[in-house]
Amino acid sequence: MKQLAIIGGGPAGISAALYAVRGGAEVTVFAKDGGALEKADRIQNYYGFEHGVAAKELIAAGVRQAQHLGAAVKHAEVFGVEFAEGGFRIKTADGAFDAGAVIIACGTARNAPPIKNLQTFEGAGVSYCAICDAFFYRGKKVAVVGSGAYARSEYAELKNVVKDVTVLTDGGGALDGIPCNTKKIAAFEGEHKLESIVFADGSRENFDGAFIACGSAGAFELAKKVGLEIGGGKLLVNEKRETNVPGIYAAGDCTPGLQQIAKAVCDGMTAGTEALKYLKAQDLKP
Ligand SMILES: Cc1cc2nc3c(=O)[nH]c(=O)nc-3n(C[C@H](O)[C@H](O)[C@H](O)COP(=O)(O)OP(=O)(O)OC[C@H]3O[C@@H](n4cnc5c(N)ncnc54)[C@H](O)[C@@H]3O)c2cc1C
Repeated sequence: MKQLAIIGGGPAGISAALYAVRGGAEVTVFAKDGGALEKADRIQNYYGFEHGVAAKELIAAGVRQAQHLGAAVKHAEVFGVEFAEGGFRIKTADGAFDAGAVIIACGTARNAPPIKNLQTFEGAGVSYCAICDAFFYRGKKVAVVGSGAYARSEYAELKNVVKDVTVLTDGGGALDGIPCNTKKIAAFEGEHKLESIVFADGSRENFDGAFIACGSAGAFELAKKVGLEIGGGKLLVNEKRETNVPGIYAAGDCTPGLQQIAKAVCDGMTAGTEALKYLKAQDLKP
């Protein structure tokens, strides 16, 4: 059976791993950190803990349980998901990983910075996916907005196709070996599409496009890369936690519904069992 890749090591991703690995799948979980529960203190409303449980311990115990059952849990930031022969390719700082099915369980964060008019120009110069949209900017001048490893990865994608690419770190530190402007950004401007970027010091520079790559890629950015349907900022799924792309599932806070551990665990259970069925069915195909 092909591998199952799970992006996210919170309650949704780890619950999916438990069900899939116990059903016989080879599972790799990619998690850049402990997710929402890293910010929480004691959890009083999760089943089975009479006196509550420390949020960090709940996460750590889940990870240990998944590892004990045979899942690989990698501490790694995922930059992208792509279609590949026989399934999907997960891109991380440590290299690429091929999988037959993917579960996105990245939690809620959407990394749009608070720049004036950014939303106005989404789809009209503002993009969240270099690999999807770079082609439209051949011969033009674009910016990548961000200052971390994800911005570096989006820069590398664009540089293959677009001649003039500058990273705008929006007040963050410069990235070694890449043309950067570290000024704070105030606003995007243009008539019907993005034409220029105005900085906090009053200066401005003309750009044809801006690719947003702040922080890490979240569910929204990963979804854009493979054309997943989004509604109200969440990944849209059916009752089997299937997205509109066969073989890609989504679970937990990145999908509609209550943002609670119990719901994330339930979603993970469904996504894990359905992804397992999908992988088994792929094996039977001639
Ligand atoms: C302060 C606070 C208190 C809370 N208290 C409660 C409570 O008392 N009871 C309750 O039921 N719920 C509570 N919640 C909500 C609960 O934490 C979430 O509903 C739950 O954690 C959602 O699980 P998830 O797996 O969907 O997402 P998360 O737990 O957020 O996990 C997301 C995972 O995705 C990973 N990830 C994201 N992007 C990438 C990437 N690009 N590459 C690799 N990994 C990535 C993260 O590192 C993380 O491992 C609280 C939340 C907060 C913030």
